[in-house]
Amino acid sequence: MVNKKLLAIVRFYVCTLVGVMLLGHSAYANEAFEKEQIASILTLGDSDNTEALKRLMAVKEQQSAATPVQIRLQTLEVLVSLYYDAGKIKSSEATINELLALATAEKDVEGIGIANIMAAYKLIEDGKPQEALNKLNLIDSSLQPDASAELKMRLDSALGTASYVLGNFDSSLRYFLEALKLTDELPERKVENRIRRLDSIAKLYINMKDPEKALATVDEALEISPLARAPKILASLSLSQGIAYANLNQDAKAVEAYKRALKIAREAGMATFEVICLIDISDHYLTTNEYKKAEEFARLSLKRAEALGDKGSIDIAKINLGFSLAGQGRIASGVELVNGVIHDFLQSGRKTDAESVIGELANMYEKAGMYKEALATLRQQQSLSNELFSADRSKAVAGLQEQFNAKQRQKQIELLGKENALKDADIRNHSLQQVITMLGAMVTVMVGIFIYLLYRRVQRINQQLREANSQLEFHAIRDPLTGLYNRRSFVELMKTRSVQLEADRREEREGNPDCLILLDIDHFKHINDTLGHAAGDAVLIQVAQRLRKVVRDTDMVLRWGGEEFLVYSPKSNPSQIAGLVDRVLQSVGGTSIVAGDHEVQVTMTAGFISLPFSDISELKLDWEKALQIADMALYLGKANGRNRGYGIAKIMVDSESALPFLEEDLAAAVSSGMVELIEVVGPAKLDLPVSK
Ligand code: GH3
Ligand code: MG
Ligand code: MG
Repeated sequence: MVNKKLLAIVRFYVCTLVGVMLLGHSAYANEAFEKEQIASILTLGDSDNTEALKRLMAVKEQQSAATPVQIRLQTLEVLVSLYYDAGKIKSSEATINELLALATAEKDVEGIGIANIMAAYKLIEDGKPQEALNKLNLIDSSLQPDASAELKMRLDSALGTASYVLGNFDSSLRYFLEALKLTDELPERKVENRIRRLDSIAKLYINMKDPEKALATVDEALEISPLARAPKILASLSLSQGIAYANLNQDAKAVEAYKRALKIAREAGMATFEVICLIDISDHYLTTNEYKKAEEFARLSLKRAEALGDKGSIDIAKINLGFSLAGQGRIASGVELVNGVIHDFLQSGRKTDAESVIGELANMYEKAGMYKEALATLRQQQSLSNELFSADRSKAVAGLQEQFNAKQRQKQIELLGKENALKDADIRNHSLQQVITMLGAMVTVMVGIFIYLLYRRVQRINQQLREANSQLEFHAIRDPLTGLYNRRSFVELMKTRSVQLEADRREEREGNPDCLILLDIDHFKHINDTLGHAAGDAVLIQVAQRLRKVVRDTDMVLRWGGEEFLVYSPKSNPSQIAGLVDRVLQSVGGTSIVAGDHEVQVTMTAGFISLPFSDISELKLDWEKALQIADMALYLGKANGRNRGYGIAKIMVDSESALPFLEEDLAAAVSSGMVELIEVVGPAKLDLPVSK
């Protein structure tokens, strides 16, 4: 009877979960009284559903369009639950629609969310769990970051329920645990909700074939607070205990728990719940082959379900009645009842439900020794399950898809799962086993997951490689301390220059040459020695920033070595180069630099040259030689007092004969009048305090 029990449990779920109502909305001062009133009705509902419903209907009666929207929304939310528990399913559904309409008209995001979650429960109850899951995932993906804990908790509970009905126990558990965790953040009814969530988890354990754990979870819920003894909650916990005991074949205890649940449900006016208890009791007697008692409770549940117009319960009650009759030898009338329901299921597309009932029918024929009928029924079941196999598979894949869409959420859930002591390795294994046995198509799903994980892994590794590569690339051309281009990248750039050289030679000669400015920080060692290496690094970083700021967008600033920098300024007008050097020296040394606890003036000495230099072909004086000359100019600058720039302006003799001097001994070339230097003097000494 396991599958039929599943149907009953689904209904049980819907009942308890819709039954969780909270008042999380903020209220204005003038709403306080009404809010209080609804809260007290909600609490009353835990023990007396009938009275609570009566009062809330009266409250609603008094309301008008002038009543604050939040109050009206809350009234409707609570009303849905009270109607449902009272077995007034139609009114409950109509109220969900009313809630949705009001929330939509008022653009109340929370209200819309809650109404949609309720609508998803209805889909589950109508045997459309996948549609429900899709709907819930949609709500999930559009959840506002500031959504209330209540909405999130309800959503997780609903997602857990839909996953559970789809046989996806693992994710169901994760959602329930997440919902459990969220109860801590609720503004009101924390404990009540905590107990409810534990009850859901207990129910899940039963279906994961772990009734002991289910019982332990119920005990945990009962120990939390005396609030767990409120009739509505206690009835629900008792029913969980009953099913768990039945699974452990502890029949006496099971019946005792069921009857306790039944008694409380009756007293509290929870008609829907009462029917579910009756069904579970008849179900139990069927498994113990006590057909007379099974018939008694099946008839009772059928009568009550028909009175409520509760279609879901009517179907299950009929099935139980059919089997209890057949068990007593009244095969024809029993089979007729059962076949009627199977027919209904098939008509409304509930193939999974039909398939499980047909399976039970085959068992019954076999028990009765009617082997021909048993065989025919088995064949029918076989073809239906083949059909379902492929359907289940795509369903499962679609489910997976949905899960991955909610990837971010999953991450949180996984973290939570780790944290939670309830989720030990044992349970995980167990649930995995259950998932595999539950869905025939699970093999396919597992393969799918495996491939997906592999794919993800490959993706991840690729991503890591890409990141590593781009980092490598970055470090290959950038200096890690200052982020400036490094010497290597300049060498690479100059390589492309020599390729271009021939073609561009003529053009180059006519246009502006490029300019190379080599710069070296003055007395940098002193900065390091007095302020520390870290302060030295900070100085380097700030010098780099200042250099980058002062040059043109098309210029390139490089860290040439330790405290040496190079500015490569393509196509610079020679008459403006001295100006550029002046700006560079001013920008670095014109204002102080803060390094550690100190404020220092950092000056630089520069050597600069144009490329091509004078009218000498780059084939004769290439960039390396040009830099060598710039370096010599820089050295002269250091010798002449630092904080200045020297550039070679003009060659007084023919360039061919000047070249060896320029490269070997610039000072001599200058003093012999071969070349003329341009001098750019750096900024004046700043008046700085000794330390900051
Ligand atoms: P000068 O005015 O003649 O250029 O004197 P200087 O002290 O600047 O020149 P020197 O070449 O004697 O010292 C340069 C110092 O720069 C030595 C070295 O330890 C330091 N240095 C090189 N790279 C780094 C670096 O990345 N961080 C720090 N903090 N110091 C560095
Ligand atoms: Mg140096
Ligand atoms: Mg230096």
